[in-house]
Amino acid sequence: MKDTRLQLDGATAVRLWVFEGDATRLERIITDVWRGLSTGAREAIATFWRNGDPKVELSNLWDSENCNAKLRGDGCTIKVSEEAFRNMPDDVARYVIAHELAHVFQKANGIWVRSGDDGGPLSFEREGVHWGDEPRLEDDADQTAGKWGFSPKERDWHVRLYLAKRGIRLPESNEPGEGEKA
Ligand SMILES: [Zn+2]
Repeated sequence: MKDTRLQLDGATAVRLWVFEGDATRLERIITDVWRGLSTGAREAIATFWRNGDPKVELSNLWDSENCNAKLRGDGCTIKVSEEAFRNMPDDVARYVIAHELAHVFQKANGIWVRSGDDGGPLSFEREGVHWGDEPRLEDDADQTAGKWGFSPKERDWHVRLYLAKRGIRLPESNEPGEGEKA
């Protein structure tokens, strides 16, 4: 396992835990995304991470069938599926990292899962007040990533990968003006 340190800017660094896969590509993607964040978001995330040990883990150590990446509950560890990362184009990989950083940004803004939930649907609160459910959390992360300039097409890509694994192909693009390729 490679344990390296990636300096994001003068004030902020993350550790990269690469169990397998392309550490150089991961570094490049994270650096690209960090530069795309708003100044306010960079500052908020840097402040939030100051008391933790921020890291990005690239591995196949967890079941990533329905999940390309996830953020651990403390907001400091982003886990990326190596298999998914290896197979996704750069723009999707940037989007995946931006989406997880948007979840960190949510925590930096005080949005936390409500404690005491036992098995039911997750709900989130901010300063003790109900903020929303999980779909709202995901939509908010998508919107934030979009504002930073990373387009939310991860889900579309993930559906394509899922179907491809099962031998089902979708047309390359459903964009208007782009016909199906023969
Ligand atoms: Zn998410």
